[in-house]
Amino acid sequence: MKLVGKYILTADIELVTGLHIGTSKEEVEVGGLDNPVVKDPFGNPYIPGSSLKGKMRMLMEFHEGLVDSSGKVHSCQKKDCKICGLFGRAIEKKEENTQSPPIFNRTRLIVRDAKLDKDSLKDLENLLETRWTEIKYENSINRITSAALPRPQERVPAGARFKAEFVVNIFEGDEGGDKNEDGDKKNPYLDCLLTAMELLEDDYLGGSGTRGYGKIKFKNITIKRRDASYYSGDEKVEEVRVYGDSPKEVRNKLKQS
Ligand SMILES: [Zn+2]
Repeated sequence: MKLVGKYILTADIELVTGLHIGTSKEEVEVGGLDNPVVKDPFGNPYIPGSSLKGKMRMLMEFHEGLVDSSGKVHSCQKKDCKICGLFGRAIEKKEENTQSPPIFNRTRLIVRDAKLDKDSLKDLENLLETRWTEIKYENSINRITSAALPRPQERVPAGARFKAEFVVNIFEGDEGGDKNEDGDKKNPYLDCLLTAMELLEDDYLGGSGTRGYGKIKFKNITIKRRDASYYSGDEKVEEVRVYGDSPKEVRNKLKQS
């Protein structure tokens, strides 16, 4: 099993609507908001890589029809399963092991935490209730008394931009066997990542998505490919493959390249 290279995909995540990715209650300071968004130790909101990866995996599982009624995360032993190959397999318990040895879990995708680009909020800075976030009052109505129960919800405002990075490891055999109509190499895992990005744009990130939160757009997408020799000092092999302003555009350019 040999690593032959890596795709490095960078992109801006732009918030089309406000984003609320909550944090666990234990971390809330005394006197703080009861519904804070996740922030780094310096108080800057960010998008955890785990939130992105988890959501994208779920959307891909629905896309491929792999979600059963239990709603459990899909994990299988099929060698050519794109989803398990890209997002990873659950570690099998020994007693569940059947005759065939389990496939070594080689998760190809790494999703970094996406940092807030503070410049994107410069114009809003003086209008925001707290540093980098807004407080939105969500009303729920008591259906018996008709009384409104406003609950403050912290969110990162629309217009904010985050810097995302995805790494797709390329193992021997991942490419080459599978060629497109023009005879070019195709990487099914990179393709799967782009599909997941497209699905996410038409879904939502974080909480309260069905009530309008968490619509995002991927912009300014760059894909580089680094061959294994890059990591032993060969600077030349890093090549900028494609650039695009949406996952769709990037996919179309990859098809043509
Ligand atoms: Zn699978």
